[in-house]
Amino acid sequence: MKKLVIAIDGPAGAGKSTVARLVAKKLNYTYIDTGAMYRGVAWKVLQANPGSITETFICEMVKDIIIELNYVDGKIQVMVDEKDVTDVIRTPEVTQLVSKVAQIAKVREKMVMLQQLMAQNGGVVMDGRDICTYVLPHADIKLFLTASIEERAMRRWREFKDKGYNIELEKLKEEIAARDKADSEREIAPLIQAEDAKLLNTTNLSIDEAVMEILGLCECEQHVV
Ligand code: C5P
Repeated sequence: MKKLVIAIDGPAGAGKSTVARLVAKKLNYTYIDTGAMYRGVAWKVLQANPGSITETFICEMVKDIIIELNYVDGKIQVMVDEKDVTDVIRTPEVTQLVSKVAQIAKVREKMVMLQQLMAQNGGVVMDGRDICTYVLPHADIKLFLTASIEERAMRRWREFKDKGYNIELEKLKEEIAARDKADSEREIAPLIQAEDAKLLNTTNLSIDEAVMEILGLCECEQHVV
C-alpha cells in the first residue's frame, strides 16, 4: 500500500497535534510537529540570552542549529544541539517569542528544507502553518483544522491545568489571538487555508471524530491510488 503524505495546517489550539499524532499512530506513520522545530529555535535564542533579540542574532543562532525529532516510548522527543528540550519549548517565554522567530526568511528556509527531507519517503503526518501551502504542496491529503477561539483557548487552559499551571483563560485567549494575527499576516508563508485543503472545524468534534474523519479520507485516497 502506498505510504501517504498527510499535511495539516491550522491556528494554535485547533487540535492539530493531538489529531495528527493519533492518525500517525493508527497508520504506523511518523508524526512531524513542525511547530516544535520553530519552538526549538526560539528556545535556543532565549538560552543565548542576548541583550536584544534582533534578526541578525536569530539568524546567527539558526545557522548551525541541529534539530532532531526522536521517538521514545511512543512520545516525541525534541532535541536541539543534542539537548532534550521537549518540555522547555512549551514555556510561556518560548511561546511568546516563537512567532517572531518564525517570521524570518533564513529560519523558515532551514526548517522547510529539514521538513521536506523528513517527508521524502512518505508515511508521514506533518502539522504546522504552511505545510499544505509551501512545505508539502503535493501531499496526498491536505487539511485545514480550525475551531472557535473560545474553544481553542479553553483547550489550552485545560492542557496547562493538567500540567499544574493556572493561567487565566482570558490571557490565553489574547495570546492565541496575537499569535494567529502574527502567523496569518506575516510576509513569508502566512497561515492560510490552501485552496485544495479540506476544512475541518473541530469546535464541536471530539478528538476521535476528527481522527476518524481523517482516516476515512486516507482510506478513500488508498482506493484511488
Ligand atoms: O504549532 P505550535 O503552536 O507549536 O507552533 C508555534 C509557532 O511556530 C506558531 O505560532 C508559528 O509562529 C510557528 N510555526 C510556523 N510554521 C509552522 C509551524 C509553526 O510558522 N509550520
